[in-house]
Amino acid sequence: MALTFDDGPDPLWTPRVLEALDAAGARATFFVIVPRARRAAGLLREMLARGHEVALHCTEHVRHTETSRERVVRDTAEGLAGLRDLGVEPALWRPPWGALAPWTREVAEGFGLALCLWSADTHDWRGDPARRMLLEVAPALRPGAVVLMHDGLGPGARRSGCRQTVELVAPLVARIRAAGCEPAPAGEIAAKGRLR
Ligand SMILES: [Zn+2]
Repeated sequence: MALTFDDGPDPLWTPRVLEALDAAGARATFFVIVPRARRAAGLLREMLARGHEVALHCTEHVRHTETSRERVVRDTAEGLAGLRDLGVEPALWRPPWGALAPWTREVAEGFGLALCLWSADTHDWRGDPARRMLLEVAPALRPGAVVLMHDGLGPGARRSGCRQTVELVAPLVARIRAAGCEPAPAGEIAAKGRLR
């Protein structure tokens, strides 16, 4: 199963998520907002050094269904250039809110990116306690599942920090292992054709 974190890196919460992942011995995928990544280059290096995957979320956090293809192409080109400056060549792309326009897949193919949405939503942006998120997400924790979380506050977040997400990491990893699985970066699971 893949643990994925969107909307970071965040100078306060991403280090805590990284610590929680380290403590659990788990690796994950971070779908970053590129301007935030540029302001936190050290955190990006930390992610890579600890074996995590860095992937593209966006430059501007705009729904593809509410903008033009041309604007998304520019946004993606700019994002990829920004990540390249930081030494990252992402394989995966998760557009903002997972909202796909009829042309999103073609744009992804044009940039050599594979789209990666999710199959298990923690709804952590709502600020629910970790134990409640775990209960709600548990039925979706099947082999190949992609779990959606956030290590930063995106537009629409109904919480003031990501503490609950940090607290969710250890019990979530334990639940995944109890199911006989191991958390891995989404790109590694996709490469084996096992992403659901
Ligand atoms: Zn987002």
